[in-house]
Amino acid sequence: MPKSQASALKSQPSSLTLSSSSLTLTHPQVSPSVSPSLSPQVSALKSQPSSLSPQVSALKSQPSSLSPQVSALKSQPSSLSPQVSALKSQPSSLPIHEQFYTFQGEGAHAGRAAYFIRTFGCPVHCPWCDSAGTWHPDYIPKRIARLEPTTLAAEVAQTQAEFTVITGGEPAIHDLSALTDALHAVGQKTHLETSGAFPIRGAFDWITLSPKRWKLPLAENVARANEFKLIIDRPEAITEYVDVLRERGAELSADNIVWLHPEWSQHSNPEVLNAITEWIKCHGAPYRAGWQLHKNYAADCMDQRSVPAAPLGGDPKQGF
Ligand code: SF4
Repeated sequence: MPKSQASALKSQPSSLTLSSSSLTLTHPQVSPSVSPSLSPQVSALKSQPSSLSPQVSALKSQPSSLSPQVSALKSQPSSLSPQVSALKSQPSSLPIHEQFYTFQGEGAHAGRAAYFIRTFGCPVHCPWCDSAGTWHPDYIPKRIARLEPTTLAAEVAQTQAEFTVITGGEPAIHDLSALTDALHAVGQKTHLETSGAFPIRGAFDWITLSPKRWKLPLAENVARANEFKLIIDRPEAITEYVDVLRERGAELSADNIVWLHPEWSQHSNPEVLNAITEWIKCHGAPYRAGWQLHKNYAADCMDQRSVPAAPLGGDPKQGF
């Protein structure tokens, strides 16, 4: 406090009265003008206790009912701590099996320039998987790179890719939100290839759902899909997967193409090819015969960063 103000206050007499029940400070500049105007409000408040009492009484009577909740909350910290710790320690990076620039070889966008990001890990375990290097103990690499979404997006931005395909493995076992945000930030459309068996986290412009009988898709993902890709490893697989989609409420209209792909190790099996042909001729839209163009072109392996295919059902020497 400046000395001049202190002197002014000292020159104004004040009194301090202390009793056993109250402490009263009187000052010429404060007490006379404030106390009288507040008094009616204070008096009113003093006159209300009887109306507030029931509420207060009710609150006072509640502790026993709140206690268990409070006790439960008090008992949770130790069980929450590991989760919180895990969240804090989760990096934004993702385990990436490979990334490469090629063209999309399948589906409605076949033939267009595309950047592929293949995440590591898949709990579906198809016996003919052509990406076994992402999960199978006999094929997984010794070292798995973790890359930041912004690093991946910066690489994509240096290409002429029309969109980026996030595939796997099963990419939906990861939270892909940061990656799709980073790709959108550099102007990339985001496409997802998934079995649909896990909740999808991320903003996608196109979703290709390929159901697998070993872990069936969630109805919420079937509803979000833009196209379906059925991998036909034997003739009966067509009706099997169509039923799976129908049971989950799929709208099998011309707007949602259903591709029938021969499983690649069966791509010369006349039984499989003929079953697909007959189904298409019999049912028409939305069914279409599919193929994996990029395998005929050997397009992916032209980018040195692509990892050689590890097909469980095919011939690794031929890459399929
Ligand atoms: Fe997983 Fe796809 Fe391989 Fe099936 S084909 S095991 S879903 S990566």
